[in-house]
Amino acid sequence: MEWTDTALVLSLGRFREIDVWLRLLTRRHGILHAFAFGGSRSRKRFPGCLDMLNLLRVRVDTGRTGQFPTLCEASLLWGPHSLRTGGGRLGMAMNCLRFLEALGLPQDDAGETLTLTQELLTLLEGNAPVPETLPILFRLRLASVQGYVPAFDRCTACGEPLGFSRNGHAGVETSAFWSIAEGAVRCPRCAAVRGQRSQGQLTPAMIRALDTVQNATPETWGHEALTAHERQDCARYIDEFVQYHLGLVWDRGRFGKV
Ligand SMILES: [Zn+2]
Repeated sequence: MEWTDTALVLSLGRFREIDVWLRLLTRRHGILHAFAFGGSRSRKRFPGCLDMLNLLRVRVDTGRTGQFPTLCEASLLWGPHSLRTGGGRLGMAMNCLRFLEALGLPQDDAGETLTLTQELLTLLEGNAPVPETLPILFRLRLASVQGYVPAFDRCTACGEPLGFSRNGHAGVETSAFWSIAEGAVRCPRCAAVRGQRSQGQLTPAMIRALDTVQNATPETWGHEALTAHERQDCARYIDEFVQYHLGLVWDRGRFGKV
């Protein structure tokens, strides 16, 4: 069977001199491995486009069994330039892609994940400042796309709005408590009932920042003014959450199962 799709190159390598294997994040077919025979030679079928972080239009033949996808042709839709020159931003991009690979995807979620990843790479390629915690925020958003993360704008227990100014309507500034293990966000009253007022304390600014990561594009993630302490707490809670619910921890350059 043959199909065409949009695909981001997550990783690739050579084998047998001129052939290339790729790991692709595709819009409609999830994450898959594909072989590009003659991939490092054929300028006609793969005009210089088989490279990490490139967004491609691909034609894939999955064969009769569908087990061995072959890349028949590819053309470049988008590719970074300054990001490739290295530095901290390339490290951030790679960290995000490694997390995505480790997490894996249900196939029907791939479109939103591809769009999100593309927005992230475009942001890193540009000149706008980005928060140092960007890769950690990306993990929260991906976990959220897959339905693991509670909404931050309401108390999970009673539904009370949690201190908000979304769409310019200032809400009452309410703090909250994020129970990492339960995956619940509670207003102070509900947290007190359960004796959980010490867990994952969120200030109104932290709630807004986490809600932005969950609902808005990556370029806006650093806009909420947080103190260094608030930023560190957000990053720590997200790390704990990802470790507890997804079982993934960053260790010696890769994500592994806890
Ligand atoms: Zn409540």
